[in-house]
Amino acid sequence: MDNATTHTLQRPRAVERIVTGQATSDGAGVKLTRVLTPDLQRRLDPFLMLDAFGTDNPGDYIGGFPDHPHRGFETVTYMLDGRMRHRDSAGNEGLLSGGGVQWMTAGRGVIHSEMPEQEAGRMEGFQLWLNLPAKDKMCAPWYRDIPAGEIPKLRTAEGVGVHIIAGASHGMVGAMQREATLPLYLDLHLPADAAFEQPLPTAHNAFVYVYRGELLVAGQSVPRQRMALLANTPGSDGVRLQAGALGARAILVAGQPLNEPIAQYGPFVMNSKEEVFQAVDDFRAGRLA
Ligand code: FE
Repeated sequence: MDNATTHTLQRPRAVERIVTGQATSDGAGVKLTRVLTPDLQRRLDPFLMLDAFGTDNPGDYIGGFPDHPHRGFETVTYMLDGRMRHRDSAGNEGLLSGGGVQWMTAGRGVIHSEMPEQEAGRMEGFQLWLNLPAKDKMCAPWYRDIPAGEIPKLRTAEGVGVHIIAGASHGMVGAMQREATLPLYLDLHLPADAAFEQPLPTAHNAFVYVYRGELLVAGQSVPRQRMALLANTPGSDGVRLQAGALGARAILVAGQPLNEPIAQYGPFVMNSKEEVFQAVDDFRAGRLA
């Protein structure tokens, strides 16, 4: 393993703001926290939404997400714990379980369900929505299940475990790459007091969401269940995270903005109102999938 050292940043990014998210429910009553809300879509372009879910109470998740449509973007579901079965109108089916990722490109349209395959126990994870560039919004739907064992992992010299869902870190290429948005998606397991550095292009929008313990980012505390939105300060070269005395687990997400208009109506994200109306029409007429 390449333990080429980890402390090389000259100007790490500051925290622009801390975001709490909104408790809500979606699908058939699944309780979750919408961390990246619509008011942050422009600021965090190309990311459109981040939902965090984590509960031991089956009543919070048992309803699942019955059949619903998507058009114009990608959904990336990362399960930390629990099992969800996915079925879609393109004929794909898969079981998503602890440590695994499902990457779905809705493109011109897909109708799918995401249903828990358990009646008890813990369900925990994230769903991130990643926008598609205008030229790809009507592409053919695509789908990949990535089991935990297929996600590249490394351990830094300081003992930080890094699961590379997308992009690359410390010379290791992750499970997924996307040309238009160059997403980076890391799940980081930091032992007590360990630090982790990740270079980031200044123009890429980036955030960290802490789901265990606590992090320090450029001197600012980021507690559990909070998102730190990272400043795109000119000349900054990446992010430096430092775990507290209890260690921390967090996801680090970054991407190249598309800088295109964003028009959303529920599960449809296009570039104009007209295109969104068309998506609704297509769905109602059975032409979406
Ligand atoms: Fe969905």
